[in-house]
Amino acid sequence: MSGSLLVVSGPSGSGKSSLCRKICDTYDYAALSISTTTRALRASEKEGVDYLFTTKEAFEKAIEQGEFLEWAEVHGNFYGTSKRWVVDMLSKGKTVVFDIDVQGQAAIAKLFSDRLTSVFVTTPSLEILKDRLVKRATDNAETIERRLKNALDEMAQIDYFDYLVINDRFDESYETLKAIVLASRVKRSKVSLCDFISAWKA
Ligand code: 5GP
Repeated sequence: MSGSLLVVSGPSGSGKSSLCRKICDTYDYAALSISTTTRALRASEKEGVDYLFTTKEAFEKAIEQGEFLEWAEVHGNFYGTSKRWVVDMLSKGKTVVFDIDVQGQAAIAKLFSDRLTSVFVTTPSLEILKDRLVKRATDNAETIERRLKNALDEMAQIDYFDYLVINDRFDESYETLKAIVLASRVKRSKVSLCDFISAWKA
């Protein structure tokens, strides 16, 4: 496996999904992991593009069959990452980009510590986060309250991430993330030193 992994986490409304998509549109080698979820489809979303939408029963069956690299309950819904697809992309040398929560980051860090780069994206303040969630208008008031409450728990996990991006201006955050992606591709720990030196000498 020669690829690398880039996990992007952060509160709902931080702008991390848009940043991940733009990175994957920019670089041919960056591939976005499309998660499976039991959450209801939003009007703006498309099956297979934003998520693979499924039922709780089918999700539980997929867990039993070991189909997920990691899965978690987030804001009352289930979300999981396809193991087969990720392994396939890594074997092709891709940088797999994950738009997942802090639980997913912890699980992936345990599996791939040597080839993982993690980024936490947030807003300049809680007030700005609230404002963005309200303006986005994809969730009702109760869901927004739940997401804001969870944001505080997610912020408490920042210490476990390599980079912190305060997404005030999208274009600046995108430039920062591009620099992180480039650096993540040349992480020294990705390379087995013995193999590298033998090949270099030959
Ligand atoms: P949303 O419902 O807003 O699309 O996503 C809610 C949260 O679930 C976000 O923080 C998103 O990053 C996270 N999430 C999406 N897919 C996965 C996944 O496969 N695993 C984990 N652990 N979290 C995910």
